[in-house]
Amino acid sequence: MKFFEKVKKVFNFLLDCLFPRCCIICNKKVDGADYYNLCSSCIVKIQWITGNKCSLCSRPMGDTEVTSGEKPICIECKASPPNFKSSMSCWLHTGVGRDIILTLKYRNADFLKNDIATLLKNYCSEVREFVANSLLVPVPIHYFRRVKRGYNQTEIIAHAIAKIVDSATVIDILKSKNKKSQTKLKYNERLLNIKDMFECSINSGDIPQDSKIVIVDDVLTTGSTLNECCRILQGAGFSNLHVLTLSYG
Ligand SMILES: [Zn+2]
Ligand SMILES: [Zn+2]
Repeated sequence: MKFFEKVKKVFNFLLDCLFPRCCIICNKKVDGADYYNLCSSCIVKIQWITGNKCSLCSRPMGDTEVTSGEKPICIECKASPPNFKSSMSCWLHTGVGRDIILTLKYRNADFLKNDIATLLKNYCSEVREFVANSLLVPVPIHYFRRVKRGYNQTEIIAHAIAKIVDSATVIDILKSKNKKSQTKLKYNERLLNIKDMFECSINSGDIPQDSKIVIVDDVLTTGSTLNECCRILQGAGFSNLHVLTLSYG
C-alpha cells in the first residue's frame, strides 16, 4: 500500500470515529468504505430490474409475453408507442428503492450523488452502455420550485451517471413553464397538466440533431412527463431520444 493510501485510510478511520456515517434508510452505522449513506443490508434489498422488460417503456414482462428473436414490446406500447426509442429503469419503485427516491426528492440529497454512482457501477453496469456517447438531459422543474427546494433531483441523478460514464455529458436544454407538480395528480389530470409544460432552450443547429439524447428522471410511472419532454425535443428537431430512470413503478 502506498504511503498516500495509508494516510487516507487512517484519516477516514478517524473521521468515522468522530462523525459516524449513518444509513439514510435504517439509521444504522454504515459499514464498509464504498458508500457514505447506505448500509450493506439496505443495499441488498434494492429490487433491480433484471428479467424481461418492454424495450420501450421498461415495464417488467412475463416469459409468455415475450417472443424470442424480437425486441419485447408491451401491449400498451404496441397500441400507443411512446415518443422515445428505448428506455431503461434500474430498480422497482418499492422498499429501499422507493425510499432512496423519496430521500432524493425531499431531503436536499446532493449528498447521495456519490452513492448512486457507486450503486449503478456495482449493480447495474448496463447503464454504461445505455448512456454511452449521449447527452443527458435532466427533467426540469419550474424555477420557483427549484429555488424553494434548492435543487432538482433529476440533475443529481444525471450527474451521478456522468460520474461513471466519461462519454456522457449533462446538458440543460429543457425548461419547465409549469409551477404545478405532477406528483399528486391523477392520470387524466397529469396528461392535462403536462401539455406544453416544457420548452427547449436551444436553437436548432446549436448541437447536432442526430445527437443521442437520454432524458433522465427519478421514477417512471405513467411515462407522461418523459413522453412530453420527448415531444418538445422532437419539435426542436431531435429524433434519437431515449429515457433513463432510477426507479420504475
Ligand atoms: Zn440501512
Ligand atoms: Zn411498453
